[in-house]
Amino acid sequence: MIEDQEAGMEEGDTAFAVHAEPGLEETTRAARTDGAGQDTKRWLRDEAGPALAPSPRALPAELAEEIRTASTGDLLSWVDQARLQAERPLELEVAVARTAVDRAKSHVDEEGLVLQGLQRQLAEAGPWWRPGSRGRRSDLKARIAERQQVLTRLSQHLRRTEGQVSELLPTRQAALETWAAQQRQILDRAVAAVQELQRRESGPLDGHPFDLPEQLERARAAGPAVDEIAPRTGSSDESPTSTNSTEELTEARAQIASLDAARESVDLALRRRVAGAGRNDDLSIAIVGGSITGPVLSLLLRQAGFNNVHVYEGTPSAVPQAGGVIGLDHTSLGVLDTIGVPQGEIVPFPSQRVISIKMADRRELGRVQTLWPGRNTTWTLAHDALTQRLPVETLHTGARLVGLEPGGDGRAVLRFEDGDRATADLVAFADGRRSTGRKLLDPDRPLRYAGYVAHRGQVDDCPPELRDFWRYEPDGTQFTLFPIRQPDGGIGTDWTFYLNASAEQFRAHFGADPTTRTFVLPQQVSADARAYVDAMAAKLLTPNAADLVHRTTRRMAVPILDIAPPTRMVYPVGSSRAVLLGDALAPVRPHTGRGANNGIDQAAGLVTALAEHRKDGVDLDVALTAWQARCLPMVTESLELGPELGRALGLGR
Ligand SMILES: Cc1cc2nc3c(=O)[nH]c(=O)nc-3n(C[C@H](O)[C@H](O)[C@H](O)COP(=O)(O)OP(=O)(O)OC[C@H]3O[C@@H](n4cnc5c(N)ncnc54)[C@H](O)[C@@H]3O)c2cc1C
Repeated sequence: MIEDQEAGMEEGDTAFAVHAEPGLEETTRAARTDGAGQDTKRWLRDEAGPALAPSPRALPAELAEEIRTASTGDLLSWVDQARLQAERPLELEVAVARTAVDRAKSHVDEEGLVLQGLQRQLAEAGPWWRPGSRGRRSDLKARIAERQQVLTRLSQHLRRTEGQVSELLPTRQAALETWAAQQRQILDRAVAAVQELQRRESGPLDGHPFDLPEQLERARAAGPAVDEIAPRTGSSDESPTSTNSTEELTEARAQIASLDAARESVDLALRRRVAGAGRNDDLSIAIVGGSITGPVLSLLLRQAGFNNVHVYEGTPSAVPQAGGVIGLDHTSLGVLDTIGVPQGEIVPFPSQRVISIKMADRRELGRVQTLWPGRNTTWTLAHDALTQRLPVETLHTGARLVGLEPGGDGRAVLRFEDGDRATADLVAFADGRRSTGRKLLDPDRPLRYAGYVAHRGQVDDCPPELRDFWRYEPDGTQFTLFPIRQPDGGIGTDWTFYLNASAEQFRAHFGADPTTRTFVLPQQVSADARAYVDAMAAKLLTPNAADLVHRTTRRMAVPILDIAPPTRMVYPVGSSRAVLLGDALAPVRPHTGRGANNGIDQAAGLVTALAEHRKDGVDLDVALTAWQARCLPMVTESLELGPELGRALGLGR
């Protein structure tokens, strides 16, 4: 069901009405990330169609002579050449540079707002000699100085990116002119070639032989509907050039026969691939963890023809530990689409907008709108859509892995809590933040508590203007909101409130260490924790947002955790292999929006590597090592980005 996205932008007197401070509104610039410049229209359709109609214009003498003596094969290949869409020079580079400018501008705007908020707080902090005011003033001054430095750095970055665009533009203009001249030439020659082909249709002229009827048939269609011309008939070198008609005919026939044979062999190969899909029993694959990464991996493997794939999930039915809203980028959504999970099924609110609401003293200072290259789903929607598509006999719930070792024949043996066992050639651990796989394979990378908690909650109603991802950013915390579809079809709200907390405070609130209780389920949220979150909402959030928190009955919490960057993903287990992926490899901070995306990306890469091994005979270890080399930099980047974003929000250590 598609909601009216514009409704979210209107201000009103409902629960989430916002009142920008006068004067600040103008300073808030809506950041645009429009699809800067890449022209996706087929230029040939627009330009070549009319141009290919017989033209009264006289051909240049040189071209006329070239055309008159050319073989039919050459003529057709010139028409084909005009059909290829030559890429406009530097188009992508300019689009990327412009997007970088937009992004840099929006960062400067955001930082400017934060600075203004702090300056306002300083102005309102009272004279330095008033009791209590001195400490607050010097704290604010230090923060202002820090923010000014950040703003200077961001402004320098903005100037650099703008400089890059200005440098690119003249070069691109010159390249475009050369490109246009070349394209014009190609087009002129194609137009002349079509006219010549049409002329030859009527019989031998000027000593030319009859052409093959098949070729002329294609040529006839080559007028305005140039796209209908048959595929290439070979390069001009292979084309018949002899003026001896019998020889030319034989050679052209042989050429066509070889083309047909090539086409048949392609068909055969395709048929074999299709028939072979789903019949590969070579590799048995065990996936540990049936949340997001595990089921995606299983479905991709099945699609690639691996049939011996089983998913082992520790809980009787996977509980929504990762909680509510998850932003998936377009690449991940594309991967899900290829395994038959369309966006419409898992994205009830298709907004890409992120509204950052800057605030201080429970008042809104202004808003910055950015676009995020993806869409929001929920853990429940994504998980249900994926697991419903797994063949039931391959999803084993209540199967908690406790051990892994090589068996007598060298293959990996998985041991489960209930005493069951299974063997596999490849074991993929997608068992999340507290991964047993990571503990077994890479025990020197323990989880580290980052010093803050994502408190989460869901209510059954939703302000009608909330259809985008909203981010309130009072100093030292963050409060995010997004609408969710309720089982009864109604619209609810999912919120996350990030608050600093020592490990002792976490233990007092949730009864266990943050690296042990990595997800706090509703029944584990103590009354003290609830009271604390309510008090912080009353202290930091706008009255309407605080009210939403206060009336939330269903609550959860997630301690934010860090981990050292991994140096490998692939491990030998006897003659088998084990791999770590998703949160099992490395849980990343939620502000990066990369956790589930990394898992899906790694799953897709792993399947490509395994398919290379099976189909093209690439050595398994070579394929897996290449996959690992592609994935690790992205994981390290996410792990480094998280603490930076946390620091900018005043969250964590
Ligand atoms: C507040 C918050 C917001 C987030 N927002 C985003 C976002 O916007 N975008 C994004 O991409 N990511 C986001 N994430 C991260 C995302 O939720 C996780 O990265 C994602 O769920 C990881 O999926 P996974 O399948 O790898 O692991 P998990 O979802 O943790 O699943 C692991 C599964 O393995 C099972 N398991 C564990 N141990 C065993 C065992 N021994 N044997 C068998 N089964 C076992 C568990 O029961 C579970 O089902 C967010 C996370 C949080 C906390």
